Amino acid sequence: MDRLTHFDPAEVAVPSGHWVGGRELDDGVAALDVTRPSDGTVHARVMEAGAGVVRAAVASALAGQQAWAKLRPRERAQRMRRWADLVDRDRDRLARLEAVVSSRCFHEARGADVPAVAEWLRFYAEYADKLEGQVTASGDDRLSLVLREPYGVVGVITPWNFPLFLATWKLAPAIAAGNAVVVKASELTPWSVQALAQLATEAGLPDGVINVVHGTGPVTGQALVKDPDVAYVTFTGSTATGARIMADAAAANIKPVALELGGKSATVVHADCGELDLVADHVTWSITRNAGQLCYAGSRLVVDERVADDLLARIASRMRELVAGPTWSPGTSMPPIISERQWRRIDELVRRTVDEGASLVCGGQPSRQQAGCYYPGTILDRVQPGMTGHREEIFGPVLAVQRFGAPEDALKLANHPVYGLSAAVFTRDVNTALHAARGLKAGTVWVNRWGRTPEMMTSPFGGYGQSGFGKESGRAGIENFLRSKSVWIDL
Ligand code: NAD
Repeated sequence: MDRLTHFDPAEVAVPSGHWVGGRELDDGVAALDVTRPSDGTVHARVMEAGAGVVRAAVASALAGQQAWAKLRPRERAQRMRRWADLVDRDRDRLARLEAVVSSRCFHEARGADVPAVAEWLRFYAEYADKLEGQVTASGDDRLSLVLREPYGVVGVITPWNFPLFLATWKLAPAIAAGNAVVVKASELTPWSVQALAQLATEAGLPDGVINVVHGTGPVTGQALVKDPDVAYVTFTGSTATGARIMADAAAANIKPVALELGGKSATVVHADCGELDLVADHVTWSITRNAGQLCYAGSRLVVDERVADDLLARIASRMRELVAGPTWSPGTSMPPIISERQWRRIDELVRRTVDEGASLVCGGQPSRQQAGCYYPGTILDRVQPGMTGHREEIFGPVLAVQRFGAPEDALKLANHPVYGLSAAVFTRDVNTALHAARGLKAGTVWVNRWGRTPEMMTSPFGGYGQSGFGKESGRAGIENFLRSKSVWIDL
C-alpha cells in the first residue's frame, strides 16, 4: 500500500488520555466511543474530562504560562518555529490521525491542512518578538506607557470539521502573545490535536503551555468555560453553542469571549461573470469541499436569470462526478457526513425545502457505505427567503439557489437576515464588484473567486451578525489575545 496516498484505518494508533502538563493523563468521568464516520466503526474510546481533570489542566496552564513568560520573545518564536518543523516531519502521522475519525480526506489533510498548520505556527511565531506597546502624549514631568500583556490562560473550544487547523488558528496566536492554552477539541475528533500538542513538548515549549482535554460540551466544555482561572475563551462552532458559552462566561466571571460561528454564505453571479466553467468550478468546490461541512461554505447561489440554467447544468454535472468514499481512499472527492444524526438532519432539511416549493435539480439521495453515511451534491432551485433551505445552516453539500432578474436586486437577496460570515461575487464590471464589496454584509468578500488560500492568513477572518465576533487570522488574530495596561509615571 502506498503510505502517501491512503492508509489502513485499523492500523492507526491513537494517543491515550488527555495531555496535561506535558504528559498523558488517563482519567475521567466516562468513556466515550469515537467513531470513524467513513465506515461507522468505533475506532477507540476516550475518557471524558470532568471538573477534576479540567482543573488540573488549568492549573498546569497557569504554571506553564509563567514558564513561557520567562523566556525572551525571540526564544519563544524559535521554539514555535521548531514546533512547525516537527509538524512537517510528522505530516503523514498527523494527517492519518486527522482523517481516521473526521471527514477530512487523507490526501487533503496531508497535502493542505497539515502544511497549513505548520505555516500558521510560523506566521504567528514571527509576531512573538514584534508586539509593541506605546508611549502616549504626556507632559515633560510625566511619562505615559501602554503595555500589552497576555491574558494568562485561554480556553480554546473547537469543532470537528477541520480539527487540526481550527485549533491551530487559535492556539498559535494565543501562545505567540504569551498565553498558555487549554484546548477542548470536539469529542468526535479528539486525537490529532493531542498529537500536535505532544510535538510542542518535543519542540521545547514548557510543560503546561499547551494542554488538551477531551469530552463533551456540556461536561468538559462547560467546566472549562466556567473555570475562574480561564481568563479568555475562544470558540469555533455553532451559533447556538456560542450563545450558551457567552452566557456561561458572563455568569462565571465576566470573561471575554471570541466566537466564530455558523454561516449561510452567498455567491452572487452576474450575467457578465465571464467564463461559466470557471464560475461552476468555484461554486461546486464552495459547497462540496469537505462535503459542505465548512463554516464559510457557499451554501447559497444568487444568480442572474439569464445565466442560471446554463450555470446550474454545469454545477450539477460536476457534482455528479464526485466520488463518495472513505477518507483514507485516494479517489474520494465526497467524504462522509460526520454522524448519522447530522446525515438525517441534512436529508430532513432538503425534504422540507422541497415540500415548501423548491425544485430538486440533482442529488437528494442519502447513501450508506457499511455504516458510514454519505450525501451527494444537491441543488435546490427557486428557494425563497423564509424557506428552510434559505434559513438554516444545513452543513452538508446542499446548494440553495435564488434567481434575480434585475442586477440591483442581487445584494438584497444575498444578504442573510441571520448570518454574515463570507460572500463571493462574480462579475467583470469593476463598479458592480466594488458595489458588492461595500454592500455585502459579511466579514469576508471574495471577488471572482471563492475560498481562502494560505496567503490569506495575512488578513482578518470572522463574521458579521450571528456568525460571531472577534476576528481571527492576520494581525487582528493576535491582538485579540492581548490586553493593554496604561502606566503613568511622574518624573
Ligand atoms: P458545536 O457547537 O456543536 O460544537 C463545537 C464545540 O463546542 C465542540 O467541541 C463541543 O463539544 C463544544 N460544546 C458544545 N456545547 C458546549 C457547551 N455548552 N460549553 C462548552 N463547549 C461546548 O459545533 P460542531 O457541530 O462541532 O461544528 C459545526 C458548527 O461549527 C457549524 O455551525 C459551523 O458553521 C461552525 N463552524 C464555524 C467556523 C467559523 O470559523 N465561523 C468554522 C468551523 C465551524
